[in-house]
Amino acid sequence: MKYKNFPMVPRVVFGRGSFSQLNEILMPKRKNSEAPFIFLVDDVFENNKKITSQIPTLFNDQIIFIPTEEEPKTDQVDVLVEKIRNESNEIPSGIIGIGGGTVMDLAKAVAIMLTSTGKTEDYQGWDLVKNEALYHVGIPTISGTGAEVSRTTVLTGPDKKLGINSDFTPFDQVLLDPELTNGVPKDQWFYTGMDCYIHCVESLNGTYLNAFSQSYGEKAGELCHEVFYDGNLSEEESQDKLMMASWHGGMSIAYSQVGVAHAMSYGLSYLLGTRHGIGNCIVFDHLEEFYPEGVAMFKKMKARFGIELPTGLCANLTDEEFDTMINVSMGMEPLWENACGKNWKDTITPEKLRSLYEKM
Ligand code: NAD
Ligand code: ZN
Repeated sequence: MKYKNFPMVPRVVFGRGSFSQLNEILMPKRKNSEAPFIFLVDDVFENNKKITSQIPTLFNDQIIFIPTEEEPKTDQVDVLVEKIRNESNEIPSGIIGIGGGTVMDLAKAVAIMLTSTGKTEDYQGWDLVKNEALYHVGIPTISGTGAEVSRTTVLTGPDKKLGINSDFTPFDQVLLDPELTNGVPKDQWFYTGMDCYIHCVESLNGTYLNAFSQSYGEKAGELCHEVFYDGNLSEEESQDKLMMASWHGGMSIAYSQVGVAHAMSYGLSYLLGTRHGIGNCIVFDHLEEFYPEGVAMFKKMKARFGIELPTGLCANLTDEEFDTMINVSMGMEPLWENACGKNWKDTITPEKLRSLYEKM
């Protein structure tokens, strides 16, 4: 098919305090008392009674707290799936991910793998999933990645960091409650929020741009400006708007692609484990030649919130390590093609990437 027939999240709730409705939302989806709901929850909430007391567990439902120091891995998904299979006689009623991009991506992957055979790494790529996933629900607690709307779940496997991109990946239900983002540390708020801003810049300045992506990208960009630059917003308005910016930013790249910052930050992440939001910021800060206006605005936003990015990440790397990063990055062909056009290899050479990485 020339034009992608894109699945979207079929149901979404938006509203401050809407998390308290989770029970009503899940009840009709409960298959029977033996088929539990499995709640994957960011472990930052483990001792947060306000959140945990509202998770509507019944019968054999399970809450599994997920550490998020590291981004999700394929073998972590395999372990979770095995644990869930072993501990329940029936296939669960559904998987609910409550957290940031890390936990939402894990929830998507677990829901896919509970109805698929083999190992998670076998499904990294495009349209390799053949069976419908288990009912799965995404509930973001930090805004920016767009993982709540996207058709992918980004996982690090034994030999690549690549998403499971499939029609079965998007959530069946999303619950957007901006109050859940209370308590996000300022630096992390900025890094994950900038992931959204960078999605807009990369999509709006890409060769894949079309009216569909543009309409979402422009809206997301406008909301990011209000939140991070010139809006005089209350805390609540800022939370509400950033949650919707993330949604629109995710929709914008759905029908287009990201670009240089993402391609290079995948390299950093693969070699050094640098996390997505901060990695994108570190790279984007040096991309004036690709995105002059976007980077100038980014620097103003950074200054407004007193954000200091780490430096010297690549100071002591060996030639071999540089080559690993460069290979991972150059392997992201659609991203480069979107950013620099069909002939991207004329300008994006290993030497060029090395000179950029050396600045970081
Ligand atoms: P994250 O999920 O890793 O969370 C970052 C930190 O914020 C964690 O320490 C977490 O505990 C904390 N946190 C989250 N909510 C909080 C709250 N309410 N209060 C206090 N602390 C809170 O970060 P992220 O930036 O949302 O997600 C990054 C991941 O998303 C990466 O793995 C990346 O690959 C993935 N990603 C996926 C997509 C997609 O479309 N699937 C898109 C972009 C990024
Ligand atoms: Zn991103």
